[in-house]
Amino acid sequence: MSESQACIGLGANLGDVRAVLAAAYAQVRQLPGTRYHRCSPWFTSAPIDSSGPDYLNAVACFDTTLSPQALLEALQGIERCHARERPYRNAPRTLDLDLLLYGDQQIATSTLTVPHPRMHERAFVLLPLAALLPTVVIPGLGPVSTLLSSVAGQSVWRAG
Ligand code: ATP
Ligand code: CA
Ligand code: CA
Repeated sequence: MSESQACIGLGANLGDVRAVLAAAYAQVRQLPGTRYHRCSPWFTSAPIDSSGPDYLNAVACFDTTLSPQALLEALQGIERCHARERPYRNAPRTLDLDLLLYGDQQIATSTLTVPHPRMHERAFVLLPLAALLPTVVIPGLGPVSTLLSSVAGQSVWRAG
């Protein structure tokens, strides 16, 4: 079965964010058909287009035989384990797991867009991604190192 490198974004700003992110990453590591997991350092970011406490963010990468849609559904299952609710767009959340990259694929279905359509605008995604994969190229958009310069003004810092 073919294997692809997937990258996901993890974020939370409600509840015990450190405990939830650590538990969620442990669950990601347990997903079937995935191996060689790596996680970026954790970053803190001020909410953008949102409200509530600061976010804790990270990016994780792994090799997987899960299809992109199956992986998305597995990530949504982990979100539900942590009582993710969606009362309104960009609401504060206990856990958000986004599928950022799936190999070099570009995907556009009614439920899934890859690369994640807003990842290139977000320092809280690009900084951890660049820490983990400094030479990664985002399909259709270019090297992460180039994209980082356009988000330099955003408030994102390494979590202490
Ligand atoms: P944003 O997408 O701007 O980061 P969000 O994470 O708060 O916002 P959600 O409410 O978690 O948005 O997701 C809304 C829908 O986005 C999901 O139901 C899912 O089907 C869809 N979606 C499309 N592409 C992706 C992707 N690459 N990763 C995660 N969800 C995606
Ligand atoms: Ca998101
Ligand atoms: Ca999401």
